[in-house]
Amino acid sequence: MTQPSPASVAGWTPIAEEAARATRVKHPDKMFPRPTHRRVITVANQKGGVGKTTSAVNLAAGLALHGLRVLVIDLDPQGNASTALGVEHRSGTPSVYEVLLGEVSLAEAAQMSDQSDRLYCVPATIDLAGAEIELVSMASRESRLKEALSDEALDMLDPDYVFIDCPPSLGLLTVNAMVAAQEVLIPIQCEYYALEGLSQLLRNIELVQAHLNRSLTVSTILLTMYDGRTKLADQVTTEVRHHFGRTVLNTVIPRSVKVSEAPGYGQSVLAYDPGSRGAMSYLDAAREVAERGAEAPQ
Ligand code: ADP
Ligand code: MG
Repeated sequence: MTQPSPASVAGWTPIAEEAARATRVKHPDKMFPRPTHRRVITVANQKGGVGKTTSAVNLAAGLALHGLRVLVIDLDPQGNASTALGVEHRSGTPSVYEVLLGEVSLAEAAQMSDQSDRLYCVPATIDLAGAEIELVSMASRESRLKEALSDEALDMLDPDYVFIDCPPSLGLLTVNAMVAAQEVLIPIQCEYYALEGLSQLLRNIELVQAHLNRSLTVSTILLTMYDGRTKLADQVTTEVRHHFGRTVLNTVIPRSVKVSEAPGYGQSVLAYDPGSRGAMSYLDAAREVAERGAEAPQ
């Protein structure tokens, strides 16, 4: 009786697009290039809720889905990365805590995620909550993770990429992560106060560079939770690109309900809803990370 409204006709396009995207994710047509060397990347920002864990997990899943071997080290006592990758992390499970204490090796604590046989996670249990204080009195307290991530230990798992998911603080756990890595990836939320605290984070990274790890660089900034309806999101994006130039990935992660639902199912968004905008953008970001990693070092 009525003509289809322009809106419903236009509605076909996104649906068809989504179907095409879903097919692309399920049947990745192209493997990502392997990095020139094993990349150990710390995902840090002392602000909570900016997308550290979400980015670590979904970039890891994107890289693993495209043929690369990836290890995620959950260094946050809340264990959110372990949850999102669907690995056991009840108290008593061999975890990053025992790894820091030198009681178990990396390979002994690593569990394969059921999302990919190339994706591993060293889980965090609630036992890690005390580590921040326990580490204070330990020998080489800043470099215990680095020692655990020796070439020999990593060779057992042979990852192309290691992502270390930091807690929302600049305490000893985060310092351990920065000492153990060559690169820092900073997720920045496209929201109010996004840049607050960033200079403190950068100062801490400089301190680590000066005293503990000369080879550390801020290699990657990822803009997350972008909401196109707000002017503010664009302002933050412009400002961050202005300050940080090429360090910022071209891909921006949109705010998407699917991204926030996925961990509840013990999955990355790439497994939970491969055709969603959130999944596609994390895949694009992972591709960028991989392409940069495959470039010859400057
Ligand atoms: P952090 O590790 O920095 O504390 P999280 O990655 O845990 O931050 O993200 C904080 C919250 O925001 C979580 O509930 C997560 O599911 C949600 N979230 C993260 N990224 C997005 C996104 N792109 N869209 C919607 N929700 C998101
Ligand atoms: Mg987190």
